[in-house]
Amino acid sequence: MEAYDVIIIGAGHNGLVCASYLLKAGYTVLLLEKRSVPGGAATTEEALPKEAPGFKFNLCAIDHEFIHLGPVLQELELEKYGLEYLFCSPVVFCPHPDGKYFLGHRSVEKTCAEIARYNERDAKKYAEYTDFWQRVLGAMIPMFNAPPKSIVDIVGNYDFKKLKDLLSVLGPPDKTLDFIRTMLTSAEDVINEWFDSEFLKAPLARLASELGAPPSQKSLAVGAIMMAMRHNPGMARPRGGTGALVKALLNLVTSLGGTVLTDQHVEQVLVDDGRAVGVRLAHGKEYRATRGVISNIDAKRLFLQLIDPSDVDAADPELRERLERRIVNNNETILKIDLALDEPLRFEHHDHKDEYLIGSILIADSVKQVETAHSDPAVGKIPLEDPSMYLVVPTMLDPSMAPPGKHTAWIEFFAPYQIDGAEGTGLNGTGWTDELKNQVADRVIDKLAEYAPNVKRSTIARRVESPAELGERLGAYKGNYYHIDMTLDQMVFFRPLPELANYKTPIEGLYLTGAGTHPGGSISGMPGRNCARVFLYAQQPLAQTLKNAGNALKSTVESFFT
Ligand SMILES: Cc1cc2nc3c(=O)[nH]c(=O)nc-3n(C[C@H](O)[C@H](O)[C@H](O)COP(=O)(O)OP(=O)(O)OC[C@H]3O[C@@H](n4cnc5c(N)ncnc54)[C@H](O)[C@@H]3O)c2cc1C
Repeated sequence: MEAYDVIIIGAGHNGLVCASYLLKAGYTVLLLEKRSVPGGAATTEEALPKEAPGFKFNLCAIDHEFIHLGPVLQELELEKYGLEYLFCSPVVFCPHPDGKYFLGHRSVEKTCAEIARYNERDAKKYAEYTDFWQRVLGAMIPMFNAPPKSIVDIVGNYDFKKLKDLLSVLGPPDKTLDFIRTMLTSAEDVINEWFDSEFLKAPLARLASELGAPPSQKSLAVGAIMMAMRHNPGMARPRGGTGALVKALLNLVTSLGGTVLTDQHVEQVLVDDGRAVGVRLAHGKEYRATRGVISNIDAKRLFLQLIDPSDVDAADPELRERLERRIVNNNETILKIDLALDEPLRFEHHDHKDEYLIGSILIADSVKQVETAHSDPAVGKIPLEDPSMYLVVPTMLDPSMAPPGKHTAWIEFFAPYQIDGAEGTGLNGTGWTDELKNQVADRVIDKLAEYAPNVKRSTIARRVESPAELGERLGAYKGNYYHIDMTLDQMVFFRPLPELANYKTPIEGLYLTGAGTHPGGSISGMPGRNCARVFLYAQQPLAQTLKNAGNALKSTVESFFT
């Protein structure tokens, strides 16, 4: 049987990041990916080869912010492996039905000037609001970039600036309590506290809700950082699409001697005497792992689908029931529409400028509409009465993604995985059929046409992926785009459950990475890097502790002198 030090189940971007660190540390690594294309929810594919050859589509992730909050890109030197990030500015355009619009630039000052055209007070408040959430972000970054239970790592990540940010949001008891109070409120509460104008509140609510919950959800005020991040570190896309990040990681992994095999569906993790020793594939082949098995898929899938129940029970008799019943998954997922376009969209009723098409375009008419966009899917309803959507025209920033002069559109529409009342019908019993997904897409496009009337006549071809199809492609439970929900009860040392939150599991040699672990979903590479640190620590605890403490001390001291 072929043997490697480490086997990674799934070649999503987190699995690839994790593999890169382990290979750099000298371990042999095999990645096994079920699809024919590595990258998971981070691929760029020519998805309409017959109808629209030469058009490249990001099937899932497009806008990258979180990866710029950590050291992955620099530490792995991904530029050397072909990765180039293109930063967006403007970062957001949101046309309002009354003719106003929100145009967010990377620069806070320019954004305030745009807001001031309609509301001086909100413009002034926007600068304060952004400054506050920037400091919250600065205070949180050290936690993102460390295993949640590794105090040395976390403390070591605080340089002078981040310590200052932390102290500025906390402080005397009443200030600290007030900060906690803010964090316990909802994005909607915070937005209402700061602003008056709907044309500004609606896009801010839409972005905050990208965490996957309605703006009214208590304890998710932190969603407000989603706009703050677009100012600093900024929002960027790899030239050539999100898949270019995966390509660079693949170049690195293979140059370090790693092996990535596609079309390899892992069916079982082999456990011997309480230790993970290898995997078996769907077609029966087995691989041995001498040091460990790492899962890029979430704990629920791993323990409930890929491990013999008796092995799980022997390690922790309560785990299967806790995973089954305690993990929250609110039924919201995405109906994805990709368009091949003959010409760029034109926002005729809003004094069209091509710069509107550089960042993300939000169709978010009101906070109430955004609320429905998330609350309907939770109860199995398709929020079609007045669709809200997140739209991007990637070819405006990066023309290499389509034939010369042509364009694409990327549309994310929140929708339920299981349609209420349609149980047992459609794909996998979800109620989703080809006919229904196309009806929904037609309605979404009708809404978009109210703002960009040329969308219909300029469409050459389109691809619509229903929530059930997305779930099947990614393998995630209920098509969850973050593997498991990103609510406060499932974040940091609660993600996915306290006993699994530090990337280790009760089965020796079995580790978890990916969106279902801290700090969660999105393109960040952080779960991959953090998991690699925990794995390396487990191999040589003393040496790794001394190395981490040394690095931490060095960077803290350096930050005081720079
Ligand atoms: C439609 C959509 C839009 C998004 N937009 C954005 C965005 O703009 N910005 C952003 O930051 N994030 C976005 N996200 C979220 C982001 O893409 C994901 O959170 C992130 O890519 C997850 O990466 P991962 O490596 O943790 O997991 P995944 O990408 O899910 O990787 C897991 C891998 O494991 C493989 N696999 C599963 N089961 C098996 C098995 N049994 N055997 C072998 N392989 C297996 C899968 O095929 C997959 O390749 C979006 C997600 C979706 C779905």
